[in-house]
Amino acid sequence: MNEKTESRVLLVYTGGTIGMSRNPETGALQPFDFKRLRTFIPEMEHLHIHIDVQSFDPPIDSSDMTPQLWIKLVEGIAQVYDQYDGFVILHGTDTMPYTASALSFMFDNLTKPIILTGSQLPIGQPRTDGKENLITSLEIASAKNAIGRAMVPEVCIYFNGKLLRGNRTTKHSAEEFNAFKSFNYPSLANAGVDLIFHEANIRRPDYKRPMVPLTRIDANVLIFSLFPGISEEIIHHVLGMPVRGIVMRTFGSGNAPQLPWLREAIAQASAHGKVIVNVSQCKQGSVAMERYSTGYQLKEAGVVSGRDMTVESAVTKLMCLLAQYDEPDEVRRLMSCDLRGEISMYGG
Ligand code: ASP
Repeated sequence: MNEKTESRVLLVYTGGTIGMSRNPETGALQPFDFKRLRTFIPEMEHLHIHIDVQSFDPPIDSSDMTPQLWIKLVEGIAQVYDQYDGFVILHGTDTMPYTASALSFMFDNLTKPIILTGSQLPIGQPRTDGKENLITSLEIASAKNAIGRAMVPEVCIYFNGKLLRGNRTTKHSAEEFNAFKSFNYPSLANAGVDLIFHEANIRRPDYKRPMVPLTRIDANVLIFSLFPGISEEIIHHVLGMPVRGIVMRTFGSGNAPQLPWLREAIAQASAHGKVIVNVSQCKQGSVAMERYSTGYQLKEAGVVSGRDMTVESAVTKLMCLLAQYDEPDEVRRLMSCDLRGEISMYGG
């Protein structure tokens, strides 16, 4: 037995295109029995990885993903954490960045890889992208360095040859095999002829501390976008909603129209304890509220900079922090801190 045969990976199928086949009568895609996975990918036998498979029952389209299911995933992994070297989660692509971001915040001091992947075409179709995505994800989940530690102890998305940090990733194409991008952080590994890990980009945990699963979520939040012409009525309605946190998608480097009623409504909502986080509608670059007076007014009204976080990351981080802390100021402080590599600490 060589060393590689000792790697153990848990493969969890939540649903999504990768595990679907076409219903011969209706033509619609529907989940197949995932126990048949090995018949579609006989190559799995040659990986020298012990793979256990679990499946959601029933599997879901990722549009039906919920915070309760994130908790179920975290609890499931935490229960068997010591038994495996890594974890692969097969997930629909539509909400994969939300799940990857949520899981990154729900595992404190993660020491093992959790790799999310899926596909644009079902695994049974001749041109499927699912086979390569799955096989390489299994290899990454079991990869160790010279001293036997996981190469990538992070929650990641592997897709189309690139390993991306989960909480930096956004789905940018519903068409291309290259469905995901990480606009503000480089890839952690690239899979071409060789699998090349970019070690300088990979976070390291504190091996003296244990991994701690955080299994509470407060989904009492909302996301809304500013647009030219947004009315006072809509702003009052949105900011008056009974939520604890708001991700506000602003223009450019975190700017908003200079309307006294907008500034006043935001200041009031902040004073009432709502945590309002400024994330740009631009995918690349960072919020810098000091740059223009259109941004500075938001800072003065109590808005927190989401810097270069993705929307998916900001909203799931908010959900996790609100569940852990009652005090809005503590949530505001932590929203601007780098907790899991989700934020670059420059700019304002
Ligand atoms: N609608 C599917 C899902 O997100 C698409 C996919 O799997 O790519 O579950």
